[in-house]
Amino acid sequence: MENDDFRKHAHHFVDWMADYMEGVGNFPVRSQVRPGDVLEKLPLQPPVNSESMDEIFTDFKNTILPGITHWQHPNWFGFFPANSSGPSVLAEMLITTMGAQCMIWETSPAATELEIRVLDWLRQMLALPEGFQGVIQDTASSATFCAVIAAREKALKGMGNEQGLAGQKNKLVIYASEEAHSSIEKAVLMSGLGRDNLRKIPILDDYSLSIDHLRAAIKEDREQGKIPAGLIACLGSTSVGAVDPIVEMGEIALKENMYFHVDAAWAGSALILPEYQGLIGEAMGVDSFVFNPHKWLLTNFDCTAHFVKNEEDLTSALSILPEYLKTREGKDVRDYRDWGIQLGRRFRSLKLWFVLRSYGVAKLQEFIRNHISWANKLANKIKVEKNFELVTKPSFSLFCFRWIPFDQLKQNIPRCQADDGFLTKEAEIIVDQLNDKLLQAINDDGRIYLTRTVVGKRVAIRFSVGSQNTTEAHVDEAWKTIKEIAGKISIN
Ligand SMILES: *Cc1c(COP(=O)(O)O)cnc(C)c1O
Repeated sequence: MENDDFRKHAHHFVDWMADYMEGVGNFPVRSQVRPGDVLEKLPLQPPVNSESMDEIFTDFKNTILPGITHWQHPNWFGFFPANSSGPSVLAEMLITTMGAQCMIWETSPAATELEIRVLDWLRQMLALPEGFQGVIQDTASSATFCAVIAAREKALKGMGNEQGLAGQKNKLVIYASEEAHSSIEKAVLMSGLGRDNLRKIPILDDYSLSIDHLRAAIKEDREQGKIPAGLIACLGSTSVGAVDPIVEMGEIALKENMYFHVDAAWAGSALILPEYQGLIGEAMGVDSFVFNPHKWLLTNFDCTAHFVKNEEDLTSALSILPEYLKTREGKDVRDYRDWGIQLGRRFRSLKLWFVLRSYGVAKLQEFIRNHISWANKLANKIKVEKNFELVTKPSFSLFCFRWIPFDQLKQNIPRCQADDGFLTKEAEIIVDQLNDKLLQAINDDGRIYLTRTVVGKRVAIRFSVGSQNTTEAHVDEAWKTIKEIAGKISIN
């Protein structure tokens, strides 16, 4: 491409980008295409001759855009947010233009040194202990995988890497709650520890890990000659936002000499608010902590902040140094390739730098605080609604609810409530179906977007506030939309 053409198209695209950001609320939130719709419009063969950027861009608008689910939509209340923001997008433009591959210090010293600095800014913002060192990983899943490998190698004194697991006498065990994210199970599988050696610890009424059950499980495993190698806490579970007792788990990890990793992928961003920092106390016993600025801190995917107490736990498990990667500076500099899975690395610290400077800590705090406050206000409203139930109270900016249309139930099911007032089993099954129906109707409608979950075996609908374009008015309007759509659904 000629540079003049690049300049022309880039200006044009930037106009499109600004228009998109402004008008994203006009799209249906969830893409309304059917499976195969996009594929069908794409030619089977690659183009032999060059096509003009105008043609390509037209196809982008006509073929691709309808197949996009608009995560930046102000009515995004699904999953968790995946924030984008002006400063972050601007940084991405520069990053991608330079196209630097930042695997080691020498391949772009600024990338490494900026990463060290901005991650320490984040560490301070979250009030993690001094001395914790940060690295940007692509995803929380990768960070958790690295933590499990570090746990494995710490327990085996590096022998897992040397001899493999087949030759080890004692089985290693990783502990996490039943509520923990699927990435933990995946990490246990990938690290070769085996699913049988992931102990899923029962949870309490607030969905947090039961310390008593954890203690009992560790004791039982030790008696069977197994080695408790790793403990993983959840700070803000995906389904309901559960928060494990991190301070107590840290004490156990210290006493039992277990590697302790905290998965705060989503809710970690809320720790920039002093009122939440008590959840991790002094981080005693914590070896590793992960959260995603790419979820709820205005930084485009991908950008996962991973902090470790002892960098050697990570680097000794993951470092390999072939001849072609040896450089003059050697140990005088930090080579982040030793801190994660992949060799190649994008220059992700730049967007974090742009975001942190452009907003400043105070604005970021306000951003998170607003979401939490709006979620709480709506949850309080739902609590007193006749035909809705607040299933889980807000954890940060996430709560779950379900629709229970009593009038319809009474008309259709002779005995829908037991003497104690609870729904009968028969009614519960119908209510599950109705909530699935409601959720699909909401997402098909396109004005708002929500995600399903199951809480205590019953279908519930999650409501998660976190899009950078959401205002309190959007939250209020979303509630009206939910009620309106529910009003059109009948049991039959
Ligand atoms: C989102 C999430 C993850 C996975 O994050 P990725 O960055 O997509 O790998 C892990 N744990 C929790 C609690 C999450 O909410």
